[in-house]
Amino acid sequence: MKATQFYFKTRKEISKDEVAISAVLLTKANFIEKLTSGVYNFLPLGLRVIKKIEQIVREEMEAIGGQEILMALLNPRSNWEQTGRWDSFKALFKLRSKYGSWFALAPTHEEIITPMVKNYIYSYKDLPLYLFHISDKFRDEPRSKSGILRGKEFIMKDLYSFHQDEKDLENYYEKVKKAYQKIYKRCGLKAYVVEASGGTFSRFSHEFQVLTPAGEDIFYHCSHCGMNRNKEIMENTKKCPECGHKIEELKGSEVGNIFKLKDKYSQAFDLNYRDEKGEIKPVMMGCYGIGISRLLGVIVEANYDAKGIIWPKETAPFQYHLIGLFKGIKKEDKEIKKQTDLVYKQLIKKGLEVFYDDRESVSSGEKLVDADLLGLPQRIIISEKTLKNRSFELKERKSNRIKIVKLKDISKII
Ligand code: ATP
Ligand code: MG
Repeated sequence: MKATQFYFKTRKEISKDEVAISAVLLTKANFIEKLTSGVYNFLPLGLRVIKKIEQIVREEMEAIGGQEILMALLNPRSNWEQTGRWDSFKALFKLRSKYGSWFALAPTHEEIITPMVKNYIYSYKDLPLYLFHISDKFRDEPRSKSGILRGKEFIMKDLYSFHQDEKDLENYYEKVKKAYQKIYKRCGLKAYVVEASGGTFSRFSHEFQVLTPAGEDIFYHCSHCGMNRNKEIMENTKKCPECGHKIEELKGSEVGNIFKLKDKYSQAFDLNYRDEKGEIKPVMMGCYGIGISRLLGVIVEANYDAKGIIWPKETAPFQYHLIGLFKGIKKEDKEIKKQTDLVYKQLIKKGLEVFYDDRESVSSGEKLVDADLLGLPQRIIISEKTLKNRSFELKERKSNRIKIVKLKDISKII
């Protein structure tokens, strides 16, 4: 992609009410743009990252049998009344059609998926079933200072599982836990699995927390036995409830949460099945969320320096940032441009993701500053100096390691 043909302009000054470092860097580097508090537009760079995160999530969900669906966001009031959450879900956005009926904007999808699968699940032969969906969610969150870490409109992946009994639910729950750890690892993150309130039906749910000062959760960690537990559900203590050792308090952002719902929603919607003996039983359910747009922010919170973002490889919008240090005025500049164009063509032909800063009106210094801000994993620089040796400079954003590579060896860097 050429910068001159791309929606790309970095910004030096942004609104002062953006305080989370992820929102500041993502706005300056042109990944996102705030529409109003808690509501963001994703620009081409930001959307590329979102799509990469979604793809990682999709692959890992499919690997454990998940089938993708897309459920409606405009939900009739009756579905939400059936579970009592029309009144009890505090962050529910409600809106009234001019023709009279009331709707909710979906903040989660138990109220939709449970009655939906009633038309599919009849017998034990229809179970287990795993369905997931990736889309916007709406929650009327109080004004926050966390940028895309806490949106009123945000992107979530939610998976729902349906089982014959608790044992099957528990086995699958452990599978999802493992799949989640793979997802965060592929996103370049270390996530702690933290015990949290289980709601009405089980002792614990599990949250996945990434350490960051911008996070809104505090959890206790025991380095001796590995216990992690959210402070919200635990008595104020300095000792591990499992092994008695000293514990520490850590601050994290919740990037995922998994629950055993058991028959909570199957009871509400009468979702039953006929077992092998012909007996009618309630379907056991689990639900498993991942904050996709929050992840975009958390990846940045966990990977930046004074100059800008440092993208982990698998979620970077592009792998290579190609810069020719030319301004298009001098004769030497023409040669640099020609060679850089050539390198661009070679890399593209190889199918690589290259962001080529081909701007002629911008100084070399500015191009380098922008490249650091953008934070693509590898930077390729072609200048008068490198061309004297028929070579280019390859620099890794994360380590600052520089390699000088001959132009003719370009295919070797890949
Ligand atoms: P939180 O405790 O942060 O409010 P939650 O426990 O209410 O989140 P869940 O219902 O468990 O959220 O939603 C699943 C995932 O969706 C969360 O783990 C989080 O990553 C993400 N998420 C939830 N609310 C938001 C939000 N307002 N903005 C962005 N992501 C969110
Ligand atoms: Mg949660």
